[in-house]
Parts: sequence; C-alpha cells; structure tokens
Amino acid sequence: MMNIYGLSLDDMESYFERIGAKKFHALQLFSWLYEKRIQSYDEITNIRREYLDKLKSNYSISKLKLVQVERDVDVSKYLFELSDLEHIEAVLMRHDYGNSVCVSSQVGCNMGCCFCESGRRKKVRNLETDEMVLQILMIEEDLGERISHVVVMGIGEPFDNYENLIRFLKIINHPKGLAIGARHITVSTCGVVPKILEFSQLPMQVNLAISLHAPNNEIRDRIMPINRVYPIEQLFSSLKKYYKSTNRRITFEYVLLKDINDSLENAEELAHLVQDMNCYINLIPYNSTNHLQFERSNTVQIMRFYDILKKNHVNVTIRKEFGGKISAACGQLRSKKEGV
Ligand code: SAH
Repeated sequence: MMNIYGLSLDDMESYFERIGAKKFHALQLFSWLYEKRIQSYDEITNIRREYLDKLKSNYSISKLKLVQVERDVDVSKYLFELSDLEHIEAVLMRHDYGNSVCVSSQVGCNMGCCFCESGRRKKVRNLETDEMVLQILMIEEDLGERISHVVVMGIGEPFDNYENLIRFLKIINHPKGLAIGARHITVSTCGVVPKILEFSQLPMQVNLAISLHAPNNEIRDRIMPINRVYPIEQLFSSLKKYYKSTNRRITFEYVLLKDINDSLENAEELAHLVQDMNCYINLIPYNSTNHLQFERSNTVQIMRFYDILKKNHVNVTIRKEFGGKISAACGQLRSKKEGV
C-alpha cells in the first residue's frame, strides 16, 4: 500500500477530487500530518468519515521504525528500518544557524566512486518519497525541535531517483508541509548530466552541489566511474546552462585524497576550471574508510591547496567536520547493521 507521507499537496488534491470530495480537504490533511502531527487518521475531526475510510484503505499512515540513534556532541546518526526490513541512515547536525539533516535517497548506490563507503553496497532500490520525508519528520519528533536545513547527501545518488526526489522536495518545502525554505535545501550529485539539465527547469530555488573531486578527466575517470559517461566538459556545459536559467550559485565538493588529487598543480588546475563561474568550493578532508588505498591529505597540504584557490579569487571553505567518531561523517554512511 502507498504511504500518505509520499503525497504532495497536488497529489492529495487530485485524490480527493477522484473520490468525489472537495479538494480543500488536501490542505486540511496536510495540516493534520505536518502541523498537528497525528499518529492515526482517527484523530482527524474535520473530514467526513466516509472519506477517511477511503483514505485508510488507500494509504497507510505508518512511519519508519527508528532502530538506533548514536549521539555525539553536535551530531547524531539515525538508523531506520523500512517496511521491507532494509536499513537506511540519516544524520542530524546541530549548527549555530539551525538544525540540518543529511538525508539518504537510495538503499545502496550504483555510482561506484572508489573512495566512498556508501557505495560498497550496490543499489538495492530507490527510496520512496515517504521514506525520505519521514527521515526528517521523525528526527524532528525525536529532537523536539524544527529542522531548518536539509542536504540530500546521505546514501544514494538523488539524481538516480529523480521523480521521488522532486516530490520529496515539494513536500518538505511546502509552507503547510515541513516548511523548509528552498534556499535551505541542497541536493548533491556526482554529475548525472541529463538530470542537472532537468533540475535547472525546476521552479524551486533549491541549491545544487556537485561532487567534483578532480580538476581533470584523467583523475576523475580513475576515481568516479560516472565521469566516463559524462566527462567534465559535458558536466560543465550542463552547469553553465543550469546557471543561465536559475542564476543560482553552484557548490563544488572536493574531497582531498593524498597524492591523488591534492597537488598544488591540481589546485591551479581546479582554479582554472571554475574561473569564470559563480560557484564556491567546499574542500572536504577525506574521512578514512575501509578503502585502504586512500588517505587523507595532511593539514599543511590542505592549507596550501586552499591558499592557491584563494589567491586565484575562488570562493572556498574547508568543511567543518562532523560525526567522525560515530561513522556519520561524509561518505561514511553504510548501515553497519547490514554486515556487508
Ligand atoms: N551521490 C551524491 C550524494 C552523496 S553526497 C553525490 O555524490 O554527491 C556525499 C558526499 O561525500 C559526496 O560528495 C561524496 O563524494 C563525499 N564522500 C564520499 N566518501 C567520502 C569520504 N570517505 N570522506 C569524505 N567525503 C566523502
């Protein structure tokens, strides 16, 4: 059975019309789900019994099973069990500007980036829209506070689950849904070019982040298989189109891997690659994983790399590190529970 948390307001309106009811019930239902946070349809008082019975038989209102929470100072990792007993993880980060959640979009991932722990398990399936929405809703409930920021940077490639992703964005962004401002939402992709082009037409001011990790095709081909399908020239031409239609600044994520992509020439090359783009680069110190062939660049090297970008007038920051202790840091999500 489909789950009610997977319906956008539009979907609900057409549902009510389909069953011969007025479509304003959709807004009422949205408010029961996301403002009043009901646990069962029986708590609804302003929709006729007959419609509620139909609703009950068409959509389940069940949530995910929260199996485990690992808490550290300003970060917590949530392990959820899905109805088919698969497991997914989401991470809560507490910043001074608010609470941010890193959401997973698939069970496993097929992108095969060599250094990433999340991709060790091949994609089992896409997450349904409700399974993405509920990661946030349930963390809010656990925390007793609002989530103000969302990054789709957990397990999975969101642009390999495009339709569910977009419906998810609509629900969490809606003022009567989770009401998370579009500018506070970031979707990260390894570079699925056709979807970047589609995303550029989305009438929603959501941020786009690109996992770049290399300044040229030679290195990128080696560490990110997607680059053999959509090489840097194609990626950048899609980003220029994206910028032209959205006017939104693009974020590049660049994980620094010792002796692989962290030389000073690489920094120059990277600066050159992005020179006339409105973008900013987030340098990410590599978090060590079971991929023993990769090591974190040392701090001095990271600073030199940073300086070269700065000198070339590139907007650059070094990512604040969260959750290393509880394996909740970038690229470390892998559901240990699965035992693979
Ligand atoms: N598939 C999407 C969403 C995942 S985002 C994407 O590739 O963008 C997770 C980010 O963490 C990506 O930028 C990924 O490249 C990065 N990452 C993966 N493994 C890492 C590691 N061990 N240390 C630091 N960052 C890592």
